[in-house]
Amino acid sequence: VSLLGSISAAAWLWSGPAETPPIPWAGHDALPREAGRPTTLFVNFDGAVLRSGCGNDARWDCSTLADTFDGYVGPFGGDTTQRAAILDAVRQDLSAFGVTAVAHRPPADVEYTMVLYGDLGPQGFAGVAPYIDCGDVWRNDTSFSQGFRTPNQGSTVILQEAAHTWGLEHVNEPEDILHPVTEGVNPRFRDSCEKIVSNTSLDESSGVCNTIHTLFCPAGEQNSFQELAYLFGPPIPDTSPPALEIESPADGSIHEAPALVDLRVTVHDDLDPQFYELVVLLGDQEIFRGSDFYDDIERAFRVVEPGEYPLTIQAIDEAGNVGEADVAFTYVPQGALDPELAGGCRVAPDAARGAPGAWILLARWRRRTCRDRRSR
Ligand SMILES: [Zn+2]
Repeated sequence: VSLLGSISAAAWLWSGPAETPPIPWAGHDALPREAGRPTTLFVNFDGAVLRSGCGNDARWDCSTLADTFDGYVGPFGGDTTQRAAILDAVRQDLSAFGVTAVAHRPPADVEYTMVLYGDLGPQGFAGVAPYIDCGDVWRNDTSFSQGFRTPNQGSTVILQEAAHTWGLEHVNEPEDILHPVTEGVNPRFRDSCEKIVSNTSLDESSGVCNTIHTLFCPAGEQNSFQELAYLFGPPIPDTSPPALEIESPADGSIHEAPALVDLRVTVHDDLDPQFYELVVLLGDQEIFRGSDFYDDIERAFRVVEPGEYPLTIQAIDEAGNVGEADVAFTYVPQGALDPELAGGCRVAPDAARGAPGAWILLARWRRRTCRDRRSR
């Protein structure tokens, strides 16, 4: 299995060409149990304690390769932005097929394939699958990838290992995800017949899963795009909007100048992390729009006018689904909450200045002046 000799435990930092070993097959050539049936790919960034003696069932973290990893795969070492970017690259390569890629473990009654993406320890390979599962007869397989930080390399190894458990073999085409050395510019599942090879030396092979390969290609060749389209059918559109949970500011809370107001929003979505566009509305007026937010959103903003602020926060997912939540708070002049200063109605001079990196609520909303309050 070791192709590169012993590489360090920091293998996930390594960015050269990554090789994946030749692997055995599940033992039989077969048509799928049911063609055109969608599936789920769970990219597990969180690590797992592996079980042996229960096959390769992803639902229970079972792997026949458990001993290879001393029974344990450590979590991915990168941050949430990198997770979102890797997942995004995986989804782009799967966008033509009925395969939904998620980073949260689906419930046990859902069929899913799992790739453990993290610290595999000192291994000589970029990734490994337990076997080539012709026709994806075993529906819930577990495979492994080193936790590469770069989306292109990470997604290529994730998808190659998953694809082995869906019945795809190595081919001699660097721009196909099934090439045994990830050195292509932007490998994808190519819609062309490519020569099947048995190892990283690219020795030609007659192939194993020919019952399906030969539906689309001459014997000894494989069309990875057509096979996945055949196995899983067309893509499933994402129609569910994200749900937003506003943790700050608290609804109905009162904030005194010149304090910044923290906005903290947690996004709950079956497909998070993904990239969201964030929109903040004050009443029906848009006061902020920005992209490249994911999962948890945290920002502080400075309010320039005392008053009441009814905000609507929207998160728009990559498919354009809009989730929103409302929160309202009141902003009062400095000293307004202090009984001794309340009559003075002082407004701090710096209340009108924005802080670097903070949003500024420029819009007025039913502005209340000191005179208004005194006359009530
Ligand atoms: Zn491979």
